Amino acid sequence: GRLVGADADGEDSAVEAALRPKDLAEFVGQPKVREQLDLMLRAARARGAAADHVLLSGAPGLGKTTLSMIIAAEMGAPIRITSGPAIQHAGDLASILSSLQEGEVLFLDEIHRMSRPAEEMLYMAMEDFRVDVIVGKGPGATAIPLELPPFTLVGATTRAGLLPPPLRDRFGFTAHMEFYEPGELEQVVHRSARLLDVTTDRDGAVEIAGRSRGTPRIANRLLRRVRDYAQVRADGRITREIAARALEVYEVDQRGLDRLDRAVLSALLKLFGGGPVGLSTLAVAVGEERETVEEVAEPFLVREGLLARTPRGRVATPAAWAHLGLAAPQNAPG
Ligand code: ATP
Repeated sequence: GRLVGADADGEDSAVEAALRPKDLAEFVGQPKVREQLDLMLRAARARGAAADHVLLSGAPGLGKTTLSMIIAAEMGAPIRITSGPAIQHAGDLASILSSLQEGEVLFLDEIHRMSRPAEEMLYMAMEDFRVDVIVGKGPGATAIPLELPPFTLVGATTRAGLLPPPLRDRFGFTAHMEFYEPGELEQVVHRSARLLDVTTDRDGAVEIAGRSRGTPRIANRLLRRVRDYAQVRADGRITREIAARALEVYEVDQRGLDRLDRAVLSALLKLFGGGPVGLSTLAVAVGEERETVEEVAEPFLVREGLLARTPRGRVATPAAWAHLGLAAPQNAPG
């Protein structure tokens, strides 16, 4: 596992349950999404109806699973959790749908990775609360219509643009989750520290938040590593200095770059004068696979405005030179 990776690792899964906000009031950040959801859920509750279907899009670790659980909790409804890749056949989906209770929330993670036949069954289920169950094979096969109780589908996807329009259109509400501001991540760190029973001062939380890449999951993970350090090398309390020293041990710098990110930047600057240089050449220079550089390191470097992908190759920005403490050449590109 990569300390600054946004996907959940084994340890995350074990502690995340304990760190999840339980209702909208506890959910940090995303003010627009929170307000819109709050209105929608209150109205549905007042009508005594199931909430509209909700589509959540956004990068991993921003709280899509957490929000789906909050939706269920706010509606006082049970929740069933599954994912697109787990639904291979339409029959898998039919059996889940037909066992839902009235008002239940069905959370479908990675909804863009569902099989086509399952997707088509879902259209009808979402719109008419009905599925056709096919019994038998070949010319003798018959479709038996099955009524479903009203339920709320919460779909999650990293990119709403990957969804076929007919599926996207069947959601009554779509929320796009943004990366979190440093101040919001600071609140996440304070909240998690309280739950983990560790003391952190304001600057300690600021230090961790600043290295968390806009992602609560990463903030929580860094907090746990800093807590270890504080416990073993200090008196258990987290201060700015303790956080900085701990994350230096784990090679996560002030901006949240790790060893690989810095190796890519450093090669680009020192070996290729800031580019442009081709991806393959850059990958060889850092001793990594092309895909690793492109999919693991580059997205965050691009997001941070440190690296640009151009038709002629990878180019460092002036901010990249500054970040590594190097003077940009006079004719530096970007
Ligand atoms: P993935 O798609 O990779 O599963 P996700 O978007 O579903 O990611 P979650 O599992 O909901 O992310 O959140 C990851 C962790 O971050 C959880 O431990 C959760 O407690 C914390 N978290 C996420 N969003 C918030 C928030 N707004 N406030 C406080 N904690 C949060």
